[in-house]
Amino acid sequence: MPSCCHPSCKMNDLINKRENLRLKFYRFPTNHERKLLWLTRIGCEQEKFKIGWKLCSRHFHENNFDPCTRRLLKTSIPDSNTGSKLIFCKSMPGMQ
Ligand SMILES: [Zn+2]
Repeated sequence: MPSCCHPSCKMNDLINKRENLRLKFYRFPTNHERKLLWLTRIGCEQEKFKIGWKLCSRHFHENNFDPCTRRLLKTSIPDSNTGSKLIFCKSMPGMQ
């Protein structure tokens, strides 16, 4: 089951389907530098990275997607500010 590895995102495919959110989960780039860039953006240390990690589509701006195919562009980088406002966890403090 895909789940999002963003430190402040609890999204997984179960919630995605249950809430009908239509989110997608994206694998980290195979290119080392791009992978590091993604990790930096989400505030994760390189050493913690595990193969198979994915990010959900909530961490990418609209302009990171191909307008026709809706696929994530090769040049895309996660938005560094998405963490706090996109938390999908009702038990988090301040979220009711
Ligand atoms: Zn996420």
